[in-house]
Amino acid sequence: MLDTVCFDDVLLVPQYSGICSRSEITLDSSLGKDINMSLPIISSPMDTVTGSDMLRAMDSLGGLGIVHRYNTPEMQADLVREAIRMGSSNTGAAIGVSGDFLDRARLLVDAGVKVLCVDIAHGHHTLMRHALKVLRNTFGSKIHIMAGNVATLEGLNDLSDWGADSVRVGIGGGSICSTRVQTGHGVPTLQSILDCSSTDRDVIIVADGGIRNSGDIVKALAAGADFVMLGSLLSGTDESPGEIIFKDGERYKVYRGMASKDAQIDWRGHTASIEGVSSTVPEKGPVKNVLSEMETGIRSGLSYSGAQNILELQVNSKMIKQTFSGTAESSTHISKIGV
Ligand code: IMP
Repeated sequence: MLDTVCFDDVLLVPQYSGICSRSEITLDSSLGKDINMSLPIISSPMDTVTGSDMLRAMDSLGGLGIVHRYNTPEMQADLVREAIRMGSSNTGAAIGVSGDFLDRARLLVDAGVKVLCVDIAHGHHTLMRHALKVLRNTFGSKIHIMAGNVATLEGLNDLSDWGADSVRVGIGGGSICSTRVQTGHGVPTLQSILDCSSTDRDVIIVADGGIRNSGDIVKALAAGADFVMLGSLLSGTDESPGEIIFKDGERYKVYRGMASKDAQIDWRGHTASIEGVSSTVPEKGPVKNVLSEMETGIRSGLSYSGAQNILELQVNSKMIKQTFSGTAESSTHISKIGV
């Protein structure tokens, strides 16, 4: 049986650094085809994370939004048009692999999206192979195709060979995910990234699921990811879709897995395998503040590894395993007794 590591099992060893200011560091990233970003962060295509406001905010803050697909193709295309009318240049949108996926893709491309994200839970699948073939035949190379999710190097390589430009890597690690409990399947996200980083294909890796803070982002990038996709970290912000819920005078928003019972009932009227949960998260204010905190942490992380950019982080960084007591020592642990 193979050993695996999760985010909390590893640390990056501080390296000699010649970086005098965090402003010397660049987080410029590109999905190719004129999709240039200044922050390697992508918002997840979930109905409580990315609608039109998040699309617009992510673009204006240097990241990228992928608008969710849990509505009609016309409604989804309207969300894209809204963001583009308000001045967004980089937008992405999710599609599935069956039913109306091609019509939806056509509408979205006509609306102006630069990234189509083929979004299914188990991406290493014959239906994905078919969808990627159809999409490539239809759009050629004029559109960036992201696909996923996969957990293995074989999955990554296959999706790349089938036509994906970038692949979402991570199965079972999402904060709202119950896939591992429900099905017994999954791989810790960091382990999947480490495995996939040895690919010989020209494919962009997007770490997706289980990222809780900027430290996890730095670890994912160091392990070989080019981008991270965030769900829970961006949920509860002003730009995430959903109403404010008041509980005991505090303000919350819903954040739910797209395979949760609630989401399945809302979007298709019945449930199949329930592999997610629905939750509420405290309202966080503007997403700008969340991204700014993440960016500061990432820049500081690169500085600790003596890296001026993400590529240098991947080359310079040294990852070590930490013990259970190391994990305890790594989080703040001052006694709260006698405040
Ligand atoms: P988070 O950033 O840890 O909250 O994880 C977000 C990721 O979880 C998404 O980008 C999806 O890949 C994944 N995801 C979304 N909904 C579900 C679900 O219902 N079950 C399992 N995984 C999900």
